[in-house]
Amino acid sequence: MGTYWQVDLFGLPGWADHLLQAGIERELERLVAQMSHWRADSDLQRFGRAAAGEWVWLPPELMEVLKAAAQVCRDSEGAFDPAVAAAVDAWGFGPSQLELREAPTQAPVTRGVAGIELDLLNGCARQPGGVLLDLSAIGKGYAVDRIAQILRERGAWTFLVEIGGEFFGQGLKPNGHPWWIAVEEPPGSTNGDGLRIGLSGLSLATSGDYRRFAVLDGVRYSHTIDPATGAPVRHGVASVTVVHELCMLADAYSTAIYVMGAEAGLQWAERKGIAVALRDRTESGHETRYSSQFRRLLEA
Ligand code: AMP
Ligand code: MG
Repeated sequence: MGTYWQVDLFGLPGWADHLLQAGIERELERLVAQMSHWRADSDLQRFGRAAAGEWVWLPPELMEVLKAAAQVCRDSEGAFDPAVAAAVDAWGFGPSQLELREAPTQAPVTRGVAGIELDLLNGCARQPGGVLLDLSAIGKGYAVDRIAQILRERGAWTFLVEIGGEFFGQGLKPNGHPWWIAVEEPPGSTNGDGLRIGLSGLSLATSGDYRRFAVLDGVRYSHTIDPATGAPVRHGVASVTVVHELCMLADAYSTAIYVMGAEAGLQWAERKGIAVALRDRTESGHETRYSSQFRRLLEA
């Protein structure tokens, strides 16, 4: 996934850390082998190469992610759509790692993930023809949920899982505190209102443009694509943080809201009851805005 992982836990006596670590690494390796678009031999890329109309057998974890991705794509009216893979690549953020001097003039057409027929009973998906997927906006969150599940199965109860800035925290620490997460301030932030959220049975995911972006002709381009245009999202939002029980959904929703922008994103979150904090760039610096669901978390 091109990032790091970390697990903190209050373990049981007699636990062997190295065995737990090996189990986690094996699971992550398995998920990457299924879902990475950077690996030609992944199940996802095998699906991408399939002929139009072909049914492709896929492992259950990948099917689960595709089902959730299609759901979020429909719910967000296409703002979240992993079928932007070709556009992501054309803008230099994909596996071909193009060195762009100028913005591409022609955006590849993206055909939505929601148009892929899924046969959940038999575990296959039908390739509509040339649909390439990039699961970066949902896969890390899914992997966090999987690791949390593995830890539970092994009897862990108080733990924090992180994969590259996406978190899930469970249980209260021996001092009675949840797992506190302080969300990083985007550069240029002046109001200093650092976000601090206590996770106990909750996930937190953040999307933003201040870690990965390109500058072409002095213009800053985000690595997130607006599927409606096939070009990078252009608006003032610096970061979007979503809190949800499932990290897979926190991850996908934060990307969706980032694509929608501040106004439409907050309205959508309000309608769907999603807890989101959004840092908008303004003339005077940054302004943080919350959905009412997120405000409730801050008051709790
Ligand atoms: P995230 O950091 O979770 O917001 O995911 C952003 C990454 O997801 C990008 O680097 C792309 O690989 C991919 N992506 C870009 N635009 C979209 C989009 N509109 N919907 C889903 N995934 C996207
Ligand atoms: Mg995401």
